[in-house]
Amino acid sequence: MWIRGKIFLNNEVIDGCVNFDRKIKEIRKDCKPDIDVPQGKIIFPGSIDMHVHVRGMNLSYKEDVRTATSEAAYGGVTVVVDMPNTVPYINTAERVQERLREFANFSRADYGIYSGVTSDERVDKLPIAGYKVFPEDLEKPELQFVLSSKRLKILHPELPLSTKQFRNLREMWQEIASISLVSGRFHITHITNYEDLIKAKELGFTTDFTPHHLLLEEIKGDCLTKVNPPIRDLTERRKLLKALFEADAVASDHAPHTLQEKMQPYELCPPGIAAVSFTTPFIYSLVKKGVLSLSRAVDLVSKNPAKILGINAGEIKEGNVADFTVIDFEKDWRYHTQYSKVVETPFDEYSLDVSIYMTIVEGKVAYDGYEVYPIRGMNLFENSQP
Ligand SMILES: [Zn+2]
Repeated sequence: MWIRGKIFLNNEVIDGCVNFDRKIKEIRKDCKPDIDVPQGKIIFPGSIDMHVHVRGMNLSYKEDVRTATSEAAYGGVTVVVDMPNTVPYINTAERVQERLREFANFSRADYGIYSGVTSDERVDKLPIAGYKVFPEDLEKPELQFVLSSKRLKILHPELPLSTKQFRNLREMWQEIASISLVSGRFHITHITNYEDLIKAKELGFTTDFTPHHLLLEEIKGDCLTKVNPPIRDLTERRKLLKALFEADAVASDHAPHTLQEKMQPYELCPPGIAAVSFTTPFIYSLVKKGVLSLSRAVDLVSKNPAKILGINAGEIKEGNVADFTVIDFEKDWRYHTQYSKVVETPFDEYSLDVSIYMTIVEGKVAYDGYEVYPIRGMNLFENSQP
């Protein structure tokens, strides 16, 4: 198949053609295209979201693999990497395999899964993306095994103490302090403040931030903006804007819950915002506004996440997986979710300056600007070595 149009290639936009099946085969100046992308749109490498709670299994009432990955494709995301805090928890060889089967059957995006902290050494030999280390894991004896693995580890930066106290006590210093407790191949996810970024860099770790920690104000007593770690005050959020230029990646931390769960009293209601489809159009809107350069945007959503994860994606080049996100720079979008089971997010009606024209996954059209199609995503970590 050939796609023709404006292509983001080697840090510039050129007019050209890409030939692909499931992988990118050839890039050249002209062709007889199967897909001809009109003016005003640019073909980018597919967006990669390193931090998604797809749910499924016994939590399918909140969201499942099909709905979450459809929402991803709708938002221009071609790869999701899933967190293990499902029911049951994913941290044994059997559960990892069961989880991979669930994705193989239902995922409409390419994917990877993280295992939870475990002492089951068989897990390390399975095709996982790495391990997720939650605050409470920092005091578990199994952490030693995970620290000794060469695989990527994603840290939720807070102390075990932070999870045991009232929310108003989950302070920033606890987040910063937790970063010093780990070593090895670590990525620090959803940093809420600029100090995290400095600390992580000092220790040789990579970082990501979420749009909600940048944009939203925590409304006291409103569960919709309740997330962990919490959204910081305006002063810290302003400083965090530097992450747009200095962090390695952006991630959604898509964490769906039912409306009923979100309507429980504030201290009881579960934390999380479901907006996997918001990140990519938000970042490219910042390009249109002149805040970010095109190559910086691609670094944040595609190139750097691929590098951190160690997958052949994130750049349009021969041999990489044929995942593309086509952005329409001429059509704006009032944001809302479409395929997720979560219909209400704090980003609803947010004014985006661009929209998703098309999402291509594994060489197939997953979203054409109107509809998401039941294509089959693949585990991009199939050949990953521990
Ligand atoms: Zn999360």
